[in-house]
Amino acid sequence: MNLTNPSEIKNLMAESGFSFKKKFGQNFLINPEIPKRIATSSVIPGATKTACIEIGPGIGVMTAELSKLYDKVYSFEIDSELIPILDKTLLECENVTVINKDILDVNLKEFIEDNLSGYTVSVCANLPYYITTPIIMSLFESRADIHRIVVMIQKEVATRLTARAGSEEYGSITPTVEYYSEVKKLFEVAPGNFMPRPDVTSAVVSFDVRKTPVVTPLSEEYLFRTIRGAFALRRKTLINSLKTEFSSLSKEELTSCLESAGVSPSLRGETLSLKELSVLSDEIFKYLN
Ligand code: SAM
Repeated sequence: MNLTNPSEIKNLMAESGFSFKKKFGQNFLINPEIPKRIATSSVIPGATKTACIEIGPGIGVMTAELSKLYDKVYSFEIDSELIPILDKTLLECENVTVINKDILDVNLKEFIEDNLSGYTVSVCANLPYYITTPIIMSLFESRADIHRIVVMIQKEVATRLTARAGSEEYGSITPTVEYYSEVKKLFEVAPGNFMPRPDVTSAVVSFDVRKTPVVTPLSEEYLFRTIRGAFALRRKTLINSLKTEFSSLSKEELTSCLESAGVSPSLRGETLSLKELSVLSDEIFKYLN
């Protein structure tokens, strides 16, 4: 079965009465080279006992590639109508387990501890674009033992995730994700490679989850609050923006924290690097605790 051939996909769909659901972000890959390339990028070189968690297998086009590259594959698919199709298309992939569940309802830390203890785990997905950010954040916030995440997302989101401090695209998610991982944009994928064709260009991004932190704030909670505050009011002064998050501090007190952190109060929040945000969060933490 050729899972990237549009007429074979249509036959499969007709046989099972399946139709694409926009609400689940269903755009399936129809160029066989792309799932191969994404799957290969997710592999950790030199790892011996390997497992991959796939989000949204669709009809299983990338799952089949992952099955060749990993010892074990778990694929979480929200759409129950795709399960009978996957039973057929992945019949020969004995190391694949498909689970009919919303990935956001899975406690990944527990799942990996219970099912994949001792494995080097990657996450791989052509993500549904309607929930890209919540999924990426939940992967990091779960603190699950994941080594690498390789996902296809909207090109605009990829640009934001890899933006430099001070650039137009740099947003609160950029230093947040940098805190957890080393992010790289790998390659772009044009709309013509999907069925149905999306309106946007896509890009594949890899996140190597940090085993040693790049910054060590006194309080993670304060680091994330500082990031939220610094980006709350773009194009306003940093003090005004930070006040949205630390309302108990006066402007003078915030100025003193900024000065102790060596950050000029005339800067805008969106120009601060992760390192500067971390030092600033330490000063605010010391002030309030
Ligand atoms: N992997 C296939 C491919 O590359 O052709 C399909 C990718 S399609 C962009 C996204 C897939 O994610 C769909 O199969 C969709 O049903 C599934 N999906 C959407 N939301 C999900 C969720 N919250 N949890 C698990 N799967 C989800």
